[in-house]
Amino acid sequence: MQSDQPHVALLPSAGMGHLTPFLRLATLLVRQHCRVTLVTTHPTVSLSESRLVSQFLSAFPQVTQLPFHLLPLDRSTANSTDPFYLQFETIRRSAHLLSPLLATLSPPLHALISDVSLISSVIPVTETLHLPYYLLFTSSARMFAFFSFFPTFASKAGDDPATFGDVKIPGCTPITRSSFPPSLLIPDNLFGKIFKDDGREVNKLNGFLVNTFEGLEAETLEALNGGKVLKGLPSVFPVGPFPPFEFERGDCGDQLKWLDDQPAGSVVYVSFGSRTAMSRDQIREVGDGLITSGCRFLWVVKDKKVDKEEEEGLDEVVGLELMERMKAKGLVVKKWVDQPQILGHSSVGGFVSHCGWNSVIEAAWHGVPILAWPQIGDQKINAELVKASGLGMWVTSWGWAEEVVVKGDEIGERIREMMGSELLRGQAARIREEARKAFGDGGSVGITFKQLIEEWKASN
Ligand code: UDP
Ligand code: UDP
Repeated sequence: MQSDQPHVALLPSAGMGHLTPFLRLATLLVRQHCRVTLVTTHPTVSLSESRLVSQFLSAFPQVTQLPFHLLPLDRSTANSTDPFYLQFETIRRSAHLLSPLLATLSPPLHALISDVSLISSVIPVTETLHLPYYLLFTSSARMFAFFSFFPTFASKAGDDPATFGDVKIPGCTPITRSSFPPSLLIPDNLFGKIFKDDGREVNKLNGFLVNTFEGLEAETLEALNGGKVLKGLPSVFPVGPFPPFEFERGDCGDQLKWLDDQPAGSVVYVSFGSRTAMSRDQIREVGDGLITSGCRFLWVVKDKKVDKEEEEGLDEVVGLELMERMKAKGLVVKKWVDQPQILGHSSVGGFVSHCGWNSVIEAAWHGVPILAWPQIGDQKINAELVKASGLGMWVTSWGWAEEVVVKGDEIGERIREMMGSELLRGQAARIREEARKAFGDGGSVGITFKQLIEEWKASN
């Protein structure tokens, strides 16, 4: 370890969609010879999180683990039922315990990089410690523009969700009310409260790292860094695309073996990420749709938000009869899969995705076209970008999860459309090239990290 390299602590919040990019960032920092401390919160919400942290720490013994034991949360004081949002709040209410933990680290830290949803609770800590504070924003630059502009927008609308209209963020394509994360439209919701409390404080940070690249989000990055979105906004560093790394590899031999036997580009991969459970009715329509599409498919079924609660098997969740009918052309699983390896397999030609940001970037990395089916949160805002960039298509009438049950016939038709589209394939391949160029020698990722490292060194 070179002694003049900066020491950076990383503080992810909750959920695989947050932990994964943090660990990819940690890997990139280690490769840049930074000293890295990973703050691990205990307990975690899902088993996948604790498993991935262990895999990461075994792969990188040079990374220091800083265990952070959370105070129990009185649930009656937090207005949400979502276990991940509740964990955000648990971390927020424990944040004051971080000061003594971080202060004891040796050599002293040059910067702290935390997750979104923790900002306003972490600022007192970084201020006390005189520590430069950065954010790794785990969604798109477009979502970040929305997030940083939202307090201005909401206060003009009297902070009353009922009166919110579409939002015109300077320099960005407008975002309609129907694309707002639904929790923001529920008065006094925990997510909305955190979102606004944090958004108001963005100008107090030193900078923002976003897992994106010019080839995907040039317009928004320019609006953010050109001071159009918010005056005085600290720099936004496009540090993506983060590629998947070796430490994440999971056991997916069965799926890869099955994929090996399918023709190139013939399989549609269907997954809605790590924390979206579909209704049973919708699950059955998806199954019907896959059969109707006539395509080969690899479908990951999820029945519960948190993996610890998954109890019932596929026969119960999907139904025996449908499982039987799907055998001819598909592989259906109900467990954690190694998505990056699946998307990188040459048999996969399309991805039905909820548009969690990591999934979008992984699809871009592998040049796999997306059929966007946003379910919650930031996913419509990401889906707009998937469509506008040419990486995929989006059927807006499908709405949010649970607003409507989308019928199998329609799902099948749209899957056929995506899988048959030369245009989408060409566009996705072009985006893949851009992604590889950004990450490759002399690309923007290396340049941006150098810039950040210089900034951290200068801060000490
Ligand atoms: N993922 C995976 N296997 C699964 C489900 C998810 O590898 O069975 C990974 C996926 O590749 C991505 C992350 O988990 O890196 C999910 O993050 P994303 O932002 O796509 O969605 P979220 O799960 O946060 O909704
Ligand atoms: N988000 C935010 N501020 C918050 C909480 C969330 O800006 O306080 C954004 C962020 O872009 C995040 C998205 O909302 O990625 C959705 O958050 P959530 O944790 O629900 O979804 P996940 O990223 O786990 O799919």
